[in-house]
Amino acid sequence: MSVLVTGGAGYIGSHMVLELLDAGERVVVLDNLSTGFRWAVAPQATLIEGDFGDAALVGDLLSRFEVDAIIHFAAKIVVPESVADPLGYYENNTAKARNLLAQAVQAGVPHFIFSSTAAVYGEPKVSPVNEDAPKDPINPYGRSKLMVEWMLADVAAAHKLTYTALRYFNVAGADPQGRTGQSTPNATHLIKVAVQAALGKRRGMEVFGTDYPTPDGSCLRDYIHVTDLVRAHMDALRRLRAGGGNITCNVGYGRGYSVLEVIDTVKRVSGVDFEVRRSGRRAGDPASIVASNDRIRRELCWTPRHDDLEEIVRQALEWERGLEKRLAG
Ligand code: UDP
Repeated sequence: MSVLVTGGAGYIGSHMVLELLDAGERVVVLDNLSTGFRWAVAPQATLIEGDFGDAALVGDLLSRFEVDAIIHFAAKIVVPESVADPLGYYENNTAKARNLLAQAVQAGVPHFIFSSTAAVYGEPKVSPVNEDAPKDPINPYGRSKLMVEWMLADVAAAHKLTYTALRYFNVAGADPQGRTGQSTPNATHLIKVAVQAALGKRRGMEVFGTDYPTPDGSCLRDYIHVTDLVRAHMDALRRLRAGGGNITCNVGYGRGYSVLEVIDTVKRVSGVDFEVRRSGRRAGDPASIVASNDRIRRELCWTPRHDDLEEIVRQALEWERGLEKRLAG
């Protein structure tokens, strides 16, 4: 029996692979290495270089490795890019996910864990937002993921497959043991960008929008440590294997930080006062989005262990410091 991790050479996927291996699981990674790295995949896992939309390849893997669960990370994840290239997002995140699901059903894979996103809520009317709030995404990224949630519900009703959809809030930080981290060269996510600015890898940074209806005018997000996030998948896997039914859960800490607060934290932890330029809003950004995590705590028995923005930033900094050496091989 093994677990198939799509996107296992990427940021979150590589943390998932370590968590699974630490728990004694057999792991197969399917990754096209478009943004991931071969070296990010722990050597005890089997890495197959290929696309999760490749039906023949996936079908072969599922039976050859006796896969009993698919954890599906591979996706495009940049909101403004999704606004500029909606068809790329619908192709990669939605159409190819449909093909993956078709292979899962054909091979009789019993369990599926899906990386969904807080972006399915759009601009929530209440904060923290719970899973039953209206789903009204305001960008193609959120819509590309919401469609997969719908597909999963329909597929699970029609076939023998149970699933967990996890709606990620803002994932950040790095493996506390320093084994992997956020390595994508042109990453656009706030903590990565701020950490690069602190280390002099970029000349300062921009704050996209300071006129939002939030306490300091910049956007509020719920930043969750990547290790707590992947542990939520372990909890989901355990529950599905024990016969648990289909469920969709937020994964966040239930607390929002503004962009300016995050930048201040990076400055404080790094001791570097880098330049911050205030600029206009970025396409597709909601003002505020914070998770209610009651359901995941209750149903998956998930408990956060790294709910600490300073720790998240410290580990992101440590990872970024050593990254050039790793990238150079
Ligand atoms: N952000 C920013 N400057 C940057 C990168 C991000 O001001 O260089 C803001 C972005 O506009 C959003 C928040 O930080 O309000 C979180 O953005 P990120 O891309 O990290 O995650 P998202 O919430 O879009 O998934």
